[in-house]
Amino acid sequence: MGEPKDQPFKPLSNRDFDFFYEGLAQSRLLVQQCGECGAMRCPPGPACPECHSFSWSPRPLSGTGVIYSYTVHHHPALAGFETPLPVALVEMDESIRMVGPMDGTDPTRIRIGAKIDTRFIDRNGVAGYRFVLTDGARP
Ligand SMILES: [Zn+2]
Repeated sequence: MGEPKDQPFKPLSNRDFDFFYEGLAQSRLLVQQCGECGAMRCPPGPACPECHSFSWSPRPLSGTGVIYSYTVHHHPALAGFETPLPVALVEMDESIRMVGPMDGTDPTRIRIGAKIDTRFIDRNGVAGYRFVLTDGARP
């Protein structure tokens, strides 16, 4: 049995999250948008936190935004990721915050307020995404 980082990354699968991973497989970053009041929500959930409606549809995001906050994960090892692993909370251009990995980016280059873009990747055979810096520097 290998280290956890060598094992396949298996995303959570349930009726709230499946649309998100299906979107990644089509290179689309999706959030839920309420069918009643229009509020967006992320992470996914069964009901709108604003109006409690169960009606929703997937809404694609542009994939661009700015880093609102971030942390660097060191331990424990995570399947499909190298450590240290920067993880960012991004204020997306659509005014919704989303958490995402920034694997491949030097943590010392990450700054709050830095612009990011989204890259769709294959992570050990599973469609995934990562945020990358776009402030004139290459990840
Ligand atoms: Zn609502």
